[in-house]
Amino acid sequence: MGPPGAGKGTQGARLAEWLGVPRFSTGDMLREARRAGTELGERARRYMDAGELVPDEVILGLIDETLRGADASRGFILDGFPRTEAQAEGLGDVLERRGESLDAVVDLQVPEEELIRRLSARRVCPECGAVWSAEELESDEEGVPCPECSAGVEQREDDRPETVRRRLEVHRTQTAPVLAWYAASDVPVVTVPGTGPVSQVQRRLRERLTEGAGT
Ligand code: AMP
Repeated sequence: MGPPGAGKGTQGARLAEWLGVPRFSTGDMLREARRAGTELGERARRYMDAGELVPDEVILGLIDETLRGADASRGFILDGFPRTEAQAEGLGDVLERRGESLDAVVDLQVPEEELIRRLSARRVCPECGAVWSAEELESDEEGVPCPECSAGVEQREDDRPETVRRRLEVHRTQTAPVLAWYAASDVPVVTVPGTGPVSQVQRRLRERLTEGAGT
């Protein structure tokens, strides 16, 4: 968990590779559904473009279906989910049915000025899905070639300033309380500063996650 721009996708992908488990990002799944033009994608579009949350029942249905279909036998990483208390409760039910439980909830913390700076500089590749910063690309312009696949990079529609402000507010009012909810439960909440180089944040994460596991 963490606000938009905290590095959930970047760090979650590295963590998943290290652990040898799949990562399920509800944001990525919704963007994929939009690209594919499915009913789910169409339903999610207006919420996403406005920086609002997609309704809980839609998200819970998506997660339930994904976990049923995936090879999640060695565990999994959830990225950007749950984002409301109702989703956290729904996840609890899904896991209980599966005879599983959460090992940890990670809270990636980044100051708001840094989030705004990161989100305004974020560029994504519509072809291969790679994520870059304008600094890495040495250009603020959309359309400069993706270093991975040469397609023209874009700014995410919801990374534009008006939508970013709303997403941060939604995080503050709807998602941050989920952390308090977990803190009052049996699931360990691991708080990790998300600032500094990507590799350093990843090192911190791995250290903190192995501390309690006795490995
Ligand atoms: P993300 O890529 O995680 O920043 O998600 C992008 C957008 O997808 C969010 O601003 C929401 O509109 C939607 N979304 C992603 N995950 C969820 C979720 N768990 N609950 C509700 N909406 C979500």
